[in-house]
Amino acid sequence: MFDLSSEVLDKVTDARPQPLTSPTLVLKSALAMFWAHLGSLNALQTVSAARFWKRWLEREPISADTMGRAHTVLNVTQLRDGLHQVYRRLKRNKALPLNLGLDVAVLDGHEQHASYRRHCAGCRQRTVKTEHGERIQYYHRQASAGLVGLRTDASRRGRSLLRHALTHPCAVRRQLDRTVTQETSAWVWVTTVPQSQAPTVRVVYWGHQRWDIENLGFNELGNGWEADHIYKHKAQAIEAFLLVTFLAYNIFHAFIGLNLKPQLRDTKPAAYWVRLIVAELYRGAGRTTYQRAP
Ligand SMILES: [Zn+2]
Repeated sequence: MFDLSSEVLDKVTDARPQPLTSPTLVLKSALAMFWAHLGSLNALQTVSAARFWKRWLEREPISADTMGRAHTVLNVTQLRDGLHQVYRRLKRNKALPLNLGLDVAVLDGHEQHASYRRHCAGCRQRTVKTEHGERIQYYHRQASAGLVGLRTDASRRGRSLLRHALTHPCAVRRQLDRTVTQETSAWVWVTTVPQSQAPTVRVVYWGHQRWDIENLGFNELGNGWEADHIYKHKAQAIEAFLLVTFLAYNIFHAFIGLNLKPQLRDTKPAAYWVRLIVAELYRGAGRTTYQRAP
C-alpha cells in the first residue's frame, strides 16, 4: 500500500554507524507494534517468536534495545516527509474530503511522562507544591496537528450529526440531587472565513469534524494506540515514536477506508482488524518459547 517500503520507509535514515539492522526494518517492526496496539517494546519482545516476523521482515525480529537505540537517532525530517507522502497519495486518490478547497487542521497539545524522579536531558521541568514541600517535576510536551481525514465512519457520522447541529437535546444529571433532566444546549460557531468562502452549514459541519478528530483522532491515538507512552526516554526517540504512531494510524485507517470491501468495512468496527493482527502475533508466539540470545 502506497509503495510503503520504497516510497516512505526506505527514504528514512538514522545516525547509527554501520547498523546491522536497516532503518526500514526498524520502522516496519514499530509499525506492526502500533497496528497491534502492543503498547511497549517489552510487549513487542514477548511476541518475537511469532512466524509473522519472518514474513514481514524476512529476518529475525529486532530486539527492544535496537528499536530504542535506532529511534533515538532516526531522521525525523525524513519521517515527516514520509507522512507527507502518504497524505499526497491520499489526496491524489481523492480519499480526502474536498471541504470546498480548504483543508481543516486541528491542533492538540499533549503532555507525556510527568515524573519527580526519572528525567532525561530533554525533559522540561516545573516546580510543583506538594504536601512534602516544593518539588521539581519533569515532563515532556508536544503539539500535534491533525488534518480532518478520510471519508470513513467519521465523516458519515458527521453528516448525520449535522441535523442536530445548532440545537442539541441532551440529558443532564444534576450533581446536587442526581435527577436527570432533558435540556437543549445551543452551540455558536464563530469564524473569520467570509460567507462566500464557507456557508454557515459548512462551518457547522467543520465544527463537528473537529469533534471527530478529537474523539476518533487524538483520543483514539492516546487511549488505543498508546501514543502517550514513552517507548524510550530520550527526546529524539519520543518524537520519532510519535511520528511512527501517526504513520501507522494513517495507513491503518487508509487501509480500512480504501482497501476493504464495503460489506466487510461496514459490518466490523476498526477494533476488529486490530484484534485480528494481535491474534496472529500471539497465536504464533504462543507456540514457541522465545530464547534470548546469549
Ligand atoms: Zn525526559
